[in-house]
Amino acid sequence: MDAATISSWMREIDASVRAERDHLVQLDAAIGDGDHGTNMVRGFEAVVQALGADNGSPPGRLLIIAGRTLVSTVGGASGPLWGSALRSGGRVLGDQTTFDGAQLAEVLAAALASVKDLGTAALGDKTMVDALEPAVETLRGRIAGGERLDQALDEAAAAAEAGMRATIPLQARKGRASYLGERSVGHQDPGATSTALIVRALQKAVTSES
Ligand code: ADP
Ligand code: MG
Repeated sequence: MDAATISSWMREIDASVRAERDHLVQLDAAIGDGDHGTNMVRGFEAVVQALGADNGSPPGRLLIIAGRTLVSTVGGASGPLWGSALRSGGRVLGDQTTFDGAQLAEVLAAALASVKDLGTAALGDKTMVDALEPAVETLRGRIAGGERLDQALDEAAAAAEAGMRATIPLQARKGRASYLGERSVGHQDPGATSTALIVRALQKAVTSES
């Protein structure tokens, strides 16, 4: 995998958040302020544009540019959180021009660590962490176990989707939804939903390459 993999991942995210924009807006309208769909679309549209203007940067650098773009274009919590996540992930790759599955798992692990560090959310707080953490654990474990990358990524995306659904009965302990207290129970978290889209987009980008 190389810089083209990252560009393709960002294009897949752009397409999927665009397709799910109204759904993300509805989820956020129920337990937040209803801007999550437009936040994600605005952010990843800008990322695709920024990467399209890039001339041959290595993959880690592209992730850093993507993260910086999210921070500067998205006002909501998801902008700084995904922004710092992608920048941390990018730093794992340094200036190398290619990367393998184990390194991709470390990119996602650094992204998760950065989200948890900045947002101080733990598993079960009904946030994007509930989708990202199971995806990272699954990807790391499957790759360490010698599984093929496309299969490992498919299982990681499924784990993110299961984590997303598991946010429904939870009470939010972080972010805007936490202001609702018990009334946040019974709703799927918007950030966990877009995170599942982001992991699925990675699986699609990598699988369409091989
Ligand atoms: P805002 O809440 O500022 O309107 P968004 O609507 O774009 O921002 O994003 C909301 C999502 O951000 C939530 O559904 C949740 O998944 C995630 N989120 C909010 N606060 C945190 C946090 N402290 N840690 C992790 N994720 C968070
Ligand atoms: Mg919102």
